[in-house]
Amino acid sequence: MSAQKLRAGILAATGTVGQRFVQLLANHPQFEVTALAASDRSQNKPYGEACTWRLVGDMPAAVRHIPVRAPEPPLDCDFVFSSLPSDCAREVEEQFARAGYPVVSNSAPWRMEPDVPLLIPEINPEHLGLIEGQRRNRGFGQGYIVTDPNCSTITLALALAPLEAQFGLEAVAVTTMQAISGAGYPGVASMDIADNVIPYISQEEEKMEREARKILGRLAGTTVREAPVRLSAQCNRVGVTDGHLVAVRVKLAKPAKLEEVRHALQSFSGVPQELHLHSAPERPVIVREEADRPQPRLDRDAGRGMSVTVGRLFPDRVLDYRFLVLGHNTIRGAAGAAILNAELLVAKGLLGARSPASAPDALPTGRQAESAARR
Ligand code: NAP
Repeated sequence: MSAQKLRAGILAATGTVGQRFVQLLANHPQFEVTALAASDRSQNKPYGEACTWRLVGDMPAAVRHIPVRAPEPPLDCDFVFSSLPSDCAREVEEQFARAGYPVVSNSAPWRMEPDVPLLIPEINPEHLGLIEGQRRNRGFGQGYIVTDPNCSTITLALALAPLEAQFGLEAVAVTTMQAISGAGYPGVASMDIADNVIPYISQEEEKMEREARKILGRLAGTTVREAPVRLSAQCNRVGVTDGHLVAVRVKLAKPAKLEEVRHALQSFSGVPQELHLHSAPERPVIVREEADRPQPRLDRDAGRGMSVTVGRLFPDRVLDYRFLVLGHNTIRGAAGAAILNAELLVAKGLLGARSPASAPDALPTGRQAESAARR
């Protein structure tokens, strides 16, 4: 089984999202982690030494001895997951794509490029049609870049997509309550967030408003025509460790009864469910009836962190309906989302073992031999 697995690299493997990648990829049926990269603070140390593990449970034994490398090709892998900081992701991810590596990113810089899929497999798998033009126009050869959205945007989009599909959306107003882990580690100073709410997250409101329209947009030839919905976002950081909660009000394009809206949300499903992709939750959207749900501590791990949970769904006196939706920001909002993207890429024949022809920068002989021996 192991011999057939694709070899995954992780860029920024020591960070909050990087550790989630490592955790979620342990025992993955299709991927095994063979390369890890991070900043010069961590390079040339075994991962077990470079990384202070901050997730529940132990660091997977299989990665402890992998040396942390510089985030530059060549790396000993077929493709890379990236959770690089925004200030270096653009350049580094392009370097990898140019060197022939598929890059499955959850960093921001490439998301809104017209030829880059901003992918949520349940919502817009057809956006993968952008890859061919991206490769051609940018001279990436066998490499390419696929992104997943900002963490609060993914949570929101999974609740909006069923409504957009069945009733159309005219306007959406959202207010977020976002977890501290969304800011990475050490993130927000404890003296700032304890006993407090911070009504500002840099660039977050702009990202939600722009990215949601692209995600819900239609593929039109070699680009995506953004959904015409008007969207307004206010983003707040709250003292919760994991789980972004989003209060949503929607105006629909055509009338719908409460029961129809509820049914649209809870019956939502897509290609990952049809294909039984490993990380696909059985139900992407769970609708709860209790008056006091969803709550981050109780609902963030629904569907192994890959479902979002909707609650408090009611008609609204100003727009048409209101509800809350909660998603796990480092699983469905980051590493889990990217892994599901990679699983879809495999299913669509867009991700496979790197052939020597796609590796002009082939590994030095010693490491090649080492890698071949391990496979
Ligand atoms: P983090 O906890 O602060 O971790 C930062 C990571 O980046 C560390 O692995 C660090 O390595 C590495 N790094 C820093 N500078 C680097 C450089 N010049 N070259 C290579 N690696 C470098 O941050 P995070 O929360 O994991 O976020 C990482 C990215 O994911 C960001 O772009 C963020 O916007 C995005 N994201 C985060 C979330 C979330 O919920 N946290 C959700 C969606 C998207 P060292 O340990 O060696 O310093």
